Amino acid sequence: MRICFSWLYIAREIRVYGDPEVHPQTEEYWGKVNPIGIRSCYDEGKRCAETLFFDYYRQHNVDIKVVRIFNTYGPRMQPHDGRVVSNFIVQALKGENITIYGNGNQTRSFCYVDDLIAAMLSMMETPKGFTGPVNIGNPGEFSMLELAEQVIALTGSKSTIVFCPLPSDDPKQRQPDITLAKKELNWSPTITLEEGLTKTIAYFKNSLFE
Ligand code: UDP
Repeated sequence: MRICFSWLYIAREIRVYGDPEVHPQTEEYWGKVNPIGIRSCYDEGKRCAETLFFDYYRQHNVDIKVVRIFNTYGPRMQPHDGRVVSNFIVQALKGENITIYGNGNQTRSFCYVDDLIAAMLSMMETPKGFTGPVNIGNPGEFSMLELAEQVIALTGSKSTIVFCPLPSDDPKQRQPDITLAKKELNWSPTITLEEGLTKTIAYFKNSLFE
């Protein structure tokens, strides 16, 4: 039996790394997670999911494939999801303030959704017994300030950047090491942040103002 639902629920599996002390993050890194914070149920939930998958693999020989999905964005994101890319684009298009949490120096690495899907399909084609985990993400690393500036430039918005309180346990930096994905999946991302943001902005323009 092949279990595919790891795709469905290990969304943004990078939470297994928590607020990492190792940069970029390799699959061997065990992470740094607060077990009792406001984000813990999310972070520890991802870790527990991996544990269960590997127990089923060891005890019942279930054919598992685990990918660790770093920040992903693209068309069909929900406008009120609260994710940074959708927030900034919606705010910019509506001319509202762009809300940066903290000083905006925290970094993330954003992968366009089409690149992510290509990697997942390659993962499902790997031979039985290749379980991962495999990091999937775009190693291009940007601060939230840089992201806000790019969104403003690409939308031509007159929005102003405002600084809001940083949520607790917000990771300071995040960047995937995708050496394993390159080797085992023969995959690396092809869509730059500028290209991906342009497509995502076009989607939100249509869906917000149609
Ligand atoms: N963030 C922000 N403004 C927003 C939404 C998020 O500055 O309107 C920051 C958030 O604090 C975090 C980063 O953007 O540092 C990425 O947030 P997101 O929720 O998209 O992903 P995650 O924190 O899960 O990586």
